[in-house]
Amino acid sequence: MPTPSTLFRHLPSMDVALQHLEADPLLAALPRDLRKDAATAFLDMVRAAIKDGRINSEAQLADAVLLPQLAAFVRRAGQPHFCRVLNATGVVVHTNLGRSLLAEEAIQAVTQANRYYSNLEFDLDSGERGSRYSHVEALVCRLTGAEAALVVNNNAAAVLLMLATLCQGQEVIVSRGQLVEIGGSFRIPDVMARSGAILREVGATNRTHPRDYENAITDQTAALLKVHTSNFRIIGFTKEVGLAELREIGDRHGLPVLEDLGSGTFFDFSSIGLHGEPTVRETLAQGADVVTCSGDKVLGGPQAGLILGRKRYIDPIKKNPLNRALRIDKMTLAALEATLRLYLDPARARERIPTLRMLAMTHEELARNAARLARRLRRELGTAATVSTCPGASRVGGGAFPERDLPTTLVELQVPGLSPDELQRRLLEAEPPLVGRIERNRFCLDPRTLQHEEVPLVATVLRAAIIP
Ligand SMILES: *Cc1c(COP(=O)(O)O)cnc(C)c1O
Repeated sequence: MPTPSTLFRHLPSMDVALQHLEADPLLAALPRDLRKDAATAFLDMVRAAIKDGRINSEAQLADAVLLPQLAAFVRRAGQPHFCRVLNATGVVVHTNLGRSLLAEEAIQAVTQANRYYSNLEFDLDSGERGSRYSHVEALVCRLTGAEAALVVNNNAAAVLLMLATLCQGQEVIVSRGQLVEIGGSFRIPDVMARSGAILREVGATNRTHPRDYENAITDQTAALLKVHTSNFRIIGFTKEVGLAELREIGDRHGLPVLEDLGSGTFFDFSSIGLHGEPTVRETLAQGADVVTCSGDKVLGGPQAGLILGRKRYIDPIKKNPLNRALRIDKMTLAALEATLRLYLDPARARERIPTLRMLAMTHEELARNAARLARRLRRELGTAATVSTCPGASRVGGGAFPERDLPTTLVELQVPGLSPDELQRRLLEAEPPLVGRIERNRFCLDPRTLQHEEVPLVATVLRAAIIP
């Protein structure tokens, strides 16, 4: 076996590498110094591979092998880093993959807001300065029964702003079992603490009683807080104090009841067989004074945080100077208004908002889509892979309906000579990357989160990964 120092001598020189790249029409638009930096990074990577033995023959370093790899590497380096991916995970509100896809109406609204000037903060009636919140407040109130509303950058900002306004320097009572860490090691309690409110945790992790809240109330108490436990569930010997009970305690002591709903829905999911998440309207009707929720979880809109409820609490929140630092941008506002308008007709919302559409897909529809995808893949891959379908489960994601499996039909791939892990690795390097999941040692695609028009692309990507 050749020694590393022998192999180093077979590396192409930088001049040869650059000449090769110069001739590549796909790289013509890439500035020369970026091309050179990427080539340097590639050659460093190859040197490291020689050192640790992953490259151990001269054949692996032949120009015919290495130069195409170099070109592919430099092309990837020249691509935008933030890119489209194909989501075949079956997790509909996948935070790592961008949460909700927007309805076509919302996409159009974003385009308009970007291409032209707008009445973002301009009152067309008076010809004077207006408020950016005016565009969605009435709509949010109509859809939820709230008296007032505002929207900010995201739900974490909504929670921060709510507590900073209503509870700063005072105590807010919350059940210990609701202080959870959600994805990306984001801890609600840490954000809450930054509001300047003092969290008074009550109860044990698994059980909290009305008297726990009641006993914790002092003249320092500003509010009672309920937090959705998101993708975390305490199962077994548990007790939570319901909103109606909190309302009673709040009334007895003259305290507002606040609820961070997390996902938050404007759509009655029980109509499609998903139970257990009250709508924002129901939450308000049960007595919450202020509710916060995300725009891009099961609501199916852009990243945003909604704060809504009683006018006497919302008004001071609107006036908090922190609001300026957390404000929503015009693209988001455009997308949010367009999305919310669809909810004026629930049937239309279900049809037009991709997140709702994917969650509402029927068993038969999914089985049909899986069969169609499998047929297409068999045609594309021939004998290179075994393609089959089997029952499986999708997830809502985003912390809503935790522990709820949505029945689906998966498309499974088995590729002789290629482990599921290796296939997955190749697919992540594809253009666009394809993200699936591995179950029972097989690579699986869930048709729920793939769009119809993506099927041919999925087939092409898989073909390129399996039949190089
Ligand atoms: C998701 C979530 C948040 C954060 O919402 P973002 O819109 O991601 O900022 C806060 N609280 C709960 C309970 C959540 O589920």
